[in-house]
Amino acid sequence: MATDCIFCDIVAGIRPATKVYETEKVLAFRDTQPVAPTHILIVPKKHIARIADIETDDASLMGELLLAAKVIAGQEGVSDGFRLVVNNGPSAGQSIFHIHLHLLADRRMSWPPG
Ligand code: AMP
Repeated sequence: MATDCIFCDIVAGIRPATKVYETEKVLAFRDTQPVAPTHILIVPKKHIARIADIETDDASLMGELLLAAKVIAGQEGVSDGFRLVVNNGPSAGQSIFHIHLHLLADRRMSWPPG
């Protein structure tokens, strides 16, 4: 049954996504509105709304997200140049309230970010 969280629905398999990586606790899929030639979202299967809501017990799970990013960057052939972004809260650009890492690559990145 659909929930009110798009990413929980993708994790549950009731909403389509182009999956690129999956483990017991982590799922990654292509962003439907990419802002770079490679734009992948890496999510914990557990619903946590924002980084601001993580608990000490989530430390290992958060580490798994970074390890997933490393593996996916290798799969995509972008290990030498990619950016990870996590938006926390509307003012920082978060629009979906289920933690996700944006893995962006294959274009020049500027700094500071907008
Ligand atoms: P954020 O603004 O940081 O919360 O990022 C949310 C991201 O989710 C945006 O880049 C959207 O393009 C992306 N997005 C929204 N719906 C979907 C979906 N059904 N499948 C894949 N990506 C999505």
